Amino acid sequence: MMKRNLRSRGGSDSMEELMEVYIDGKFYQKEDAKVSVFDHGLLYGDGLFEGIRVYDNCIFKLDAHLERIEYSAKAIALDLPWSREEIAQAHIEACRRNGVANGYIRTVITRGVGDLGLSPRNCSSPSMIIIADSIKLYPPEVYTNGIKLITVPTRRMSVAALPPMVKSLNYLNNILAKIEALNCGYDECLLLNDQGNVAECSGDNIFIIHKGKLITPAPASGLLIGITRSAAMECARELGIPVIETDMTRYDIWNADEAFITGSAAEVVPVVELDGRKIGSGKCGPLTAQLLELFRKKVRCDGAMIA
Ligand code: PMP
Repeated sequence: MMKRNLRSRGGSDSMEELMEVYIDGKFYQKEDAKVSVFDHGLLYGDGLFEGIRVYDNCIFKLDAHLERIEYSAKAIALDLPWSREEIAQAHIEACRRNGVANGYIRTVITRGVGDLGLSPRNCSSPSMIIIADSIKLYPPEVYTNGIKLITVPTRRMSVAALPPMVKSLNYLNNILAKIEALNCGYDECLLLNDQGNVAECSGDNIFIIHKGKLITPAPASGLLIGITRSAAMECARELGIPVIETDMTRYDIWNADEAFITGSAAEVVPVVELDGRKIGSGKCGPLTAQLLELFRKKVRCDGAMIA
């Protein structure tokens, strides 16, 4: 992140973070980056977002993120007025201008400015916001000691209501689950679907390893098809580990040899306990460690280069 040296009235120097935020084709200083209160993204959560990692000047799996934007947009009947290439270039430019060689990009696409009614037909045109920033990572010991999860009462949204495959600006379902987890002293939690099967975590996908196979809920269970999820499955195939997408219950996780979660921010984090039941050895399992190692090798070369 770029910094600017500021001289205060008292004469002492301080560093202020400089950030240029992309909004609809232009870059604005952070304090001037503003959107209308009539934008339906704000009024109704009518829009999409993405969270993308940058590793050593490589925007990891940018194309896959842009494909997910296109699929999400199609699902909510939002016509994107930009080509994939235009969106990609805007992301690259946002990283360049902000000196983000390692960090995180938040992309937000809203329905645009409308009136106070629900109808998107009265919205002018979609808006795109791109914020390239630094990222706060999990402490390194999490990757060896793992994290503990709890199942929360809030169920993952039904695929028949708003399919969780859509990375929409409506994240209240996930936020309610997160609040329940935090109230119980956990940072992340497991959500079940309407049928009581495992869906995913509040902001991550879940995997188990059982008898040498990698098992994860299928998208129809109601989950975001994570970019890291796909990358972890790719790594498993390269390592010769069979991958199964199927219905899964909490029982499967309690009795797994290993478990882990995946997400752009988390990467691959071992799960060592669910609902007070120790999973496997209670430490990062051997196959999880291999997957994490291969994943970390891939991230620096599998994406769009900034420089
Ligand atoms: N599930 C949910 C609900 C998420 O919000 C996310 C993203 N934080 C994920 C899974 C992981 O997706 P990705 O690997 O694309 O970051």
